[in-house]
Amino acid sequence: MRNLSDVQVVVLMGGLGTRLKHITENCPKSLADVCGRPFFDYQLELLCAWGFRKFVFLIGYRADMIEEHYGDGSRFGISIKYSYDGEKLLGTGGAVRHALHYLEDDFLLIYGDSFMDIDYAETIYRYERGKAAGARALMTVLKNGNRYDRSNVEMDGGRLVIYDKHNRTERMDHIDYGVCMYEKALFAEKADDEAFDIADIQHELSLKGEMVAQKVTKRFYEIGSPESLAEFSSYVTHRFSESHPAVFVDRDGVINSIVWNDDIEQLDSPMKVSEFEFLPGAAKALKKIQEKGYYIFVVTNQPAAAKGKTSLAALYDINTHMRESLSAEGVDIDDLFMCPHYPKELPGSKEKFLIRECECRKPKPGLIYMAMRKYNIDLSSSFMIGDSCSDVLAGTAVGLATVFVGRLKCDMCRMMGDVMPDVTVSDLAEAADVLPPAGG
Ligand SMILES: [Mg+2]
Repeated sequence: MRNLSDVQVVVLMGGLGTRLKHITENCPKSLADVCGRPFFDYQLELLCAWGFRKFVFLIGYRADMIEEHYGDGSRFGISIKYSYDGEKLLGTGGAVRHALHYLEDDFLLIYGDSFMDIDYAETIYRYERGKAAGARALMTVLKNGNRYDRSNVEMDGGRLVIYDKHNRTERMDHIDYGVCMYEKALFAEKADDEAFDIADIQHELSLKGEMVAQKVTKRFYEIGSPESLAEFSSYVTHRFSESHPAVFVDRDGVINSIVWNDDIEQLDSPMKVSEFEFLPGAAKALKKIQEKGYYIFVVTNQPAAAKGKTSLAALYDINTHMRESLSAEGVDIDDLFMCPHYPKELPGSKEKFLIRECECRKPKPGLIYMAMRKYNIDLSSSFMIGDSCSDVLAGTAVGLATVFVGRLKCDMCRMMGDVMPDVTVSDLAEAADVLPPAGG
């Protein structure tokens, strides 16, 4: 899999923002002020944290202001090229076509008026996997149930059946989320200066089965109207200005059960969605933790794909399934951080990019650091909950109070040296009970 630093990000920023007139009279929508910073800064920071470095901004209305603010990108440690939409309104597709000479063979496309906090490594992985099987594009989709907009995507499990924003059917219960990947050739087929909507390309690709999907589970924010801008402002205040306590939760053996694996005749993590089973009371316990006022971050080691026991796609599927199921129970996992690496190549290893010494495999605290870079966390009143010594060690390494689920075995004690969990409980429900109310 390619490094994210090698993947080009194209950003549509030319929109007029007519519904935000009082704000965009003199300013492009992407630069609308949100808590003292231009809107797009928040999204750009996310993308930089994932490692993206190469950007093309498609600009039109008040292009000068965007260029003045972002410059060549060096201030953000990235490089930015600009493509000017020109006088004629070209639509989203036409704007991309117009920038053809800047585009690389494959690129990520996003909108400059949306905040989309997803797993971008999964996006690149799924796109490349799809391409190897004949796809030419990827669409991120969110199970919607008409919550944010009218659904326009029909899914069958993880497969995208059809995308059509004009003719909607009863079977559509997902929406396109706003992050896509494309092959440049799709745009080269069009004439320059031809106005068209990218939705038309997407519709055609979906009919031909040439567009793969990435299911995402976290809502997006956009700033198309004064109401949605206000909503994003309060989200930004909560997430970046105020610090909140968090509960870091290990997954296997805490949220879901370990399952019997016939191949190795051992208990192991689930390798596919059908093997994933919530432990009794786990969803309720997470809900209680959420209601007490904590962020919930799942931090999980999943080396099975690196070891060749399953694919990384299956591991992503399991996490998505868990988050969707919890969401249906009213529990929103704020974020999930997975270490898919393993330091040694085994005879069955296939996805070799996963084999490496990393900083994220627990007991190292890298997954917790990832959360700390993305959120404003009050560590002094946060907790780590897990069922193995590596969870306790990772939590202790960053000064978290630790809650151990289950019983410490003697061999574990030896590995842990002087480190001991602060509290030991029998399950996640008991852990949820012993946590004090956040900020209390
Ligand atoms: Mg565990």
